[in-house]
Amino acid sequence: PFDVLVVGGGPAGAAAAVYSARKGIRTGVLAERFGGQVMDTLAIENLISVPHTDGPRLGRALEEHVKEYEVDIMNLQRAEALIPGEAGNYHEVRLANGAVLKAKSVILATGARWRELNVPGEQEYRGRGVAYCPHCDGPLFKGKRVAVIGGGNSGVEAAIDLAGVTGHVTLLEFGDALRADAVLQAKLMSLPNVSVIKSAQTTEVNGDGSKVNGLTYIDRASGQSQTLALEGVFVQIGLLPNTDWLKGTLELSKFGEIVVDARGQTSVPGVFAAGDCTTVPYKQIIIAMGEGAKAGLSAFDHLIRTAVP
Ligand code: FAD
Repeated sequence: PFDVLVVGGGPAGAAAAVYSARKGIRTGVLAERFGGQVMDTLAIENLISVPHTDGPRLGRALEEHVKEYEVDIMNLQRAEALIPGEAGNYHEVRLANGAVLKAKSVILATGARWRELNVPGEQEYRGRGVAYCPHCDGPLFKGKRVAVIGGGNSGVEAAIDLAGVTGHVTLLEFGDALRADAVLQAKLMSLPNVSVIKSAQTTEVNGDGSKVNGLTYIDRASGQSQTLALEGVFVQIGLLPNTDWLKGTLELSKFGEIVVDARGQTSVPGVFAAGDCTTVPYKQIIIAMGEGAKAGLSAFDHLIRTAVP
């Protein structure tokens, strides 16, 4: 059995593993894909002290750092169930391949994924004009025209944010009204370089073969197809935490995020969580790393206070 079993091999899981292993305790990391979302990222420019890197490079560095320690890395393995141990017993994690791993403490770091539009052009131009994270990619569109798809809080926040760094922002909302908080809508409407189109169903991201050059939508009121000329499309229709397998086992927020306190403790004693799969605000690499480190230290703190076999 492990002292600490980390589920997830992204920035949060890697940090949790390094911090746990440095305490000299038996640590394992289980990951469907080591590196996590980072592997899908081209330019990374906001990991402080690393001015420029890219996803595959950072993913390799995460793995190398974990391998500096005696950590049992189980890559390409998916966790399917967590069975919390009752007082004094091991927690169990059941894998898709049928194996069951036992651990005194568990750190959940399964991350999240952006909800996609599922329209032609979206995959083709991902990273070449199609973006999901304004904090990450906003500055790449300095002075350019962009669209934000989605009129909820995250879409309107993204539009306000992008209005400050890009030339012009068009916000498209599927429904006939924005769903964001009134104060955000008021802020949005006060900006000179933002337009809002409601009842707009995005049907295609257009490009010239190498990068985005426009967007097609249907005006749902008239049924007419319209095209906008622009260089970037930010999709803001939701972030889905990878926590379906935990439903009913521990407390999740209404968005499916694992509810954690300031130490990364979940509603189950001895089970901690970190990164994009949790309620921590702002889903970013540097934040996931910090939260993973916290969860590792919290798991160790839990172990020294608990008498388990
Ligand atoms: P993840 O990176 O999502 O890692 C989750 C891990 O858990 C993976 O190893 C996954 O395989 C594993 N996993 C999931 N479910 C299971 C399961 N059931 N069993 C076993 N393993 C499982 N952030 C920045 O700071 N700067 C950027 O420039 C930036 N650009 C981005 C660009 C793109 C295209 C995307 C998608 C994200 C970007 N982000 C960026 C966000 C950043 O990647 C995330 O905030 C960060 O990766 C979160 O780390 P994490 O460890 O919490 O989760």
